[in-house]
Amino acid sequence: MSTATLRRGLIRGVRLYPILAVGVLVLAHFLGAFSKSENPLISRSLVLNSLYAFVGLVPLLFITGFVFVGARSDHAMVQSQRNRKKLITSDPFLLPSEAMVGYKLALITNRPPMLTGLTGETYYADDHARCDIKEEHIPPIADCDCGFYAYREYRDAKFELTLNPGAFLIDVELYGMGFVYTKGYRAEVQQVNKLSLPRRCMNCHLLPAHTFVAKYKLGYYANTFWQWKFCCTLCSSVTKNENKMTVEDMKNALSVPLHH
Ligand SMILES: [Zn+2]
Ligand SMILES: [Zn+2]
Repeated sequence: MSTATLRRGLIRGVRLYPILAVGVLVLAHFLGAFSKSENPLISRSLVLNSLYAFVGLVPLLFITGFVFVGARSDHAMVQSQRNRKKLITSDPFLLPSEAMVGYKLALITNRPPMLTGLTGETYYADDHARCDIKEEHIPPIADCDCGFYAYREYRDAKFELTLNPGAFLIDVELYGMGFVYTKGYRAEVQQVNKLSLPRRCMNCHLLPAHTFVAKYKLGYYANTFWQWKFCCTLCSSVTKNENKMTVEDMKNALSVPLHH
């Protein structure tokens, strides 16, 4: 019998217990346990002792049952965790045996500009992943989403770029602890090797782009932030000089080579 079925049975039993208790009391009454008559049907002490046993013993049996079921489900959980660990260490968890070279998308936000993941976390060209959910995590943690992600195939990242026209395609190498997925990796350390610049302006999508332009954006969690886009001369002509950056300046600010 499975632990869940056992637990359900026990809970049903506990719910029935008060009804059973009333039933037993009624029965005891009819058997003369509470009457003053000299000759009850069954000896009064026998009925009373059975009552005490019922009141004392049955809850004890339930408690024992729950303890047993609890121990069994704890054991099952430990077992399943052990199995999952085995799964991770034997199959999809191919530590440095495979060079984790990949592609991904990044935004450029903030002032001074920073590389930023699509979910809003900023990072340097060479950085260790941090966990937003649990501070004590050293990413990647199997049960968590933390760590640096990257696609193995260039075309997967390229396809994602068509869905996120405000982002840039970057080439990365991942190091340290890592998980291998069907389409890529999740790892502890990331080094950004290159950022690909779009040829067309990210604003009008028509003219060739030349300059980085910062614009104020409504961001994640409803805060505002600066986002940098690579724009054409025409689109950037309306922008103040303080909100513009040359390719060379951006390269120095990010410490990442920029390529057309
Ligand atoms: Zn985490
Ligand atoms: Zn333009």
